[in-house]
Amino acid sequence: MSALKYEYRALEPYIDALTVETHYSKHHQNYCNNLNKALEKYTQFQGSSIEDVLTGLSTLPKDVVQAVTNNGGGYYNHNLYWENLTPNTKPLTEGVLMDEIRKAFVSFADFQKLFTDSATKLFGSGWTWLVKTKGGDIKIVNTANQDCPLSNGLRPLLALDLWEHAYYLKYQNRRAEYIQNWWQVVDWGVVTARLNSRLL
Ligand code: MN
Repeated sequence: MSALKYEYRALEPYIDALTVETHYSKHHQNYCNNLNKALEKYTQFQGSSIEDVLTGLSTLPKDVVQAVTNNGGGYYNHNLYWENLTPNTKPLTEGVLMDEIRKAFVSFADFQKLFTDSATKLFGSGWTWLVKTKGGDIKIVNTANQDCPLSNGLRPLLALDLWEHAYYLKYQNRRAEYIQNWWQVVDWGVVTARLNSRLL
């Protein structure tokens, strides 16, 4: 697992210390352990990057496809979730990401509204994403469970975890409030770096 760049309490008051600790050291760790367990007997995949594994789910032995979808997705998605957050957030300024956002959504405010709407409408456990398509455009998608956009040929730029374990200790049923507060700790520098990356 990628190490956290900040302490458990660093995202307060928006995301509380106990939630970050439980989410990272228990939930995320479990996905990581279960991914390793699933691939234990298939040593040929142990040197592969997680990106390659999730992009090529159909090349996996059939008996582990679902376990890797769930736990490989859980491992990768959470790495991105933590990487996307910072206690020292700065507003997104002019640059390539803002240009792409205007091209796709007209304005930053429109993008935030569409992303928030998409997250609010997600039913059950899953994620809302900003992704880059193979054509180079950006768009908003939802995925269920731990399904990863990489498996649909999309490059994740920004990930919002909407499983109850991501917010329930602090927000209980107030998911909309968690979503609003999550915007306060997004690291736009990381999102920009991912947009600029040549990797799919
Ligand atoms: Mn989670």
